[in-house]
Amino acid sequence: MYHLPRNTGWIEVVCGPMFSGKTEELIRRLTRAKIAKQKVSIFKPRIDDRYAKKEIVSHSRHTIESIIVDSPWEILELAKDAEVVGVDETQFLGMDIVHVVQQLADAGKRVICAGLDTDYRGLPFEPMPQLLAIAEYIDKMLAICVRCGNPAKHTQRIVDSNELVLVGEYDAYEPRCRVCFVPPPPQPPTNEQLSLTTEPKKEK
Ligand SMILES: [Zn+2]
Repeated sequence: MYHLPRNTGWIEVVCGPMFSGKTEELIRRLTRAKIAKQKVSIFKPRIDDRYAKKEIVSHSRHTIESIIVDSPWEILELAKDAEVVGVDETQFLGMDIVHVVQQLADAGKRVICAGLDTDYRGLPFEPMPQLLAIAEYIDKMLAICVRCGNPAKHTQRIVDSNELVLVGEYDAYEPRCRVCFVPPPPQPPTNEQLSLTTEPKKEK
């Protein structure tokens, strides 16, 4: 009895907020594949300098050796001999990762992508929604709300910043449920947006 498809590639997505165990789940799946003597390649974007340069490190410090890429297209070449391809922090790889992942799966590989499905504002974090749409298997991990103990789908930013991502600032976030999550206030328009709306209008 086989628990996974045979003679075909496919896509698995492991998504959820910070502190939900996404990376640990990715490591668990990849470790199992390694034990089965499958060729495994693991990638992550350069942006994540959290604890280590070359290893995927979950918050519980389980590690697995990974290759750091600047562009998702590098993965196509680097993973050409792999049977199983893991990608961590997939939300930082941009929309091109969708095409790369499709090509890898079409080439017969098992592809496992882990990443944040929403940002600190609670909004979908591209490209994860695209990957969720094209994947065969989806797991949405939940953390536990630090306020009330409910299942938590949100990554609450607890420092004042308008940056989309605060890389490595683990202490800047905590998991919150739908009730306890407080979205950031709307941002003032940028100078660029202001110049679009304050363009002098032609008089009739
Ligand atoms: Zn809560």
